[in-house]
Amino acid sequence: MKVRLSKPQIGPEEIEAVTRVLQTDQLSLGPVTKAFENEFAEKLQTRFAIAVNSGTSGLHLAVRAAGIKEGNEVITTPFSFVASANCILFEKATPVFVDIEEDSFGIDPELLDSALTDRSRGVIPVHVFGQACQIDSVMDFANRHDLHVIEDACESPLAMRNGTMTGNFGHSAVYGFYPNKQMTTGEGGMITTNDEKLADQFRSLRNQGRATDLQWLSHYQLGYNYRISEMTAAVGLEQTKKLPGFISARQKKADFYNYLLSDVEEIKVPNTLPGNNHTWFVYAVRVESGSRDTVLKMLNEKGIQSKAYFSPCIHLQEFYKTQYGYREGMFPVAEKISKEVVILPFFNQISEEQMEYVAASLKEIITSLKNARVQR
Ligand SMILES: *Cc1c(COP(=O)(O)O)cnc(C)c1O
Repeated sequence: MKVRLSKPQIGPEEIEAVTRVLQTDQLSLGPVTKAFENEFAEKLQTRFAIAVNSGTSGLHLAVRAAGIKEGNEVITTPFSFVASANCILFEKATPVFVDIEEDSFGIDPELLDSALTDRSRGVIPVHVFGQACQIDSVMDFANRHDLHVIEDACESPLAMRNGTMTGNFGHSAVYGFYPNKQMTTGEGGMITTNDEKLADQFRSLRNQGRATDLQWLSHYQLGYNYRISEMTAAVGLEQTKKLPGFISARQKKADFYNYLLSDVEEIKVPNTLPGNNHTWFVYAVRVESGSRDTVLKMLNEKGIQSKAYFSPCIHLQEFYKTQYGYREGMFPVAEKISKEVVILPFFNQISEEQMEYVAASLKEIITSLKNARVQR
């Protein structure tokens, strides 16, 4: 049996919506983009939502609109997708990494004070794998020190923390719609905020620095082309309507994996921090670090696509090591987790039969590795 790692769920609604756009004359900056933004803002319970062409573009604009620049420092974590630190480098500011805690894989609030200097201007906490980090504690710290907070919520749309929707804690939040995310537009992203001035800035910066009320060729500041097309927005609108349903489907699949795997001593199933829900970007188990790469190899040999996430951590990516002098051992929790995580096949429509095959294969592999060790 072959089981793929992830798979988008596209229905006739998306196909018809794209076709309808293509039958009009307005293929960019039209009503469908507005409708997508409105629907997203409503689902995410924020005042404004501004669509952009990727999560990375959204993070860049969030950093730029915050006025973060050369000489400033921004605190973030190394256990993330590389874009959450790169966006700081785009504006020539310096990422200052803080280690994660094991329960949510989010930033460890206890370590925030140690990262603070008189150059600190912002924090980019990441909501990893589908659940919130301890964003309430991050906000206490940020408010005390007047820091700008950008939530990287790319992996966690609709994640809540103590009853509040993520995206409503920081000054802005960013979402990504690559095909492996909970909802997809192929490529695409969204920035949300409750601050009207920031929302205006995002609209201007994504559109070549135009003012919304100025002439087409009047650019009052440096901007970018980070717009999305109406076709992309049409897919996004339909996917946003379905997002709560997608997440309940993922919850059921995760429950079934938990049921199949939680009796295996050598496997740690995903944890949900008290006060959090889980919106299941991926289903991530942890195995003993010495056997992780062998487990991955054997799963893939059985036709089961699986991956190590996030490995290596951002600070151990080649250009971070060579240009910024980061070394192994600097962020021990992030490094440990990145050596233990196995991402299993996981998507809205994965069948019970596929999940049973994955779980049985994983158990078989773990047992054979254990027996081999005992014999040695
Ligand atoms: C997916 C993701 C992004 C954005 O990725 P894009 O491919 O640019 O849409 C940013 N941060 C994290 C943590 C992500 O998982």
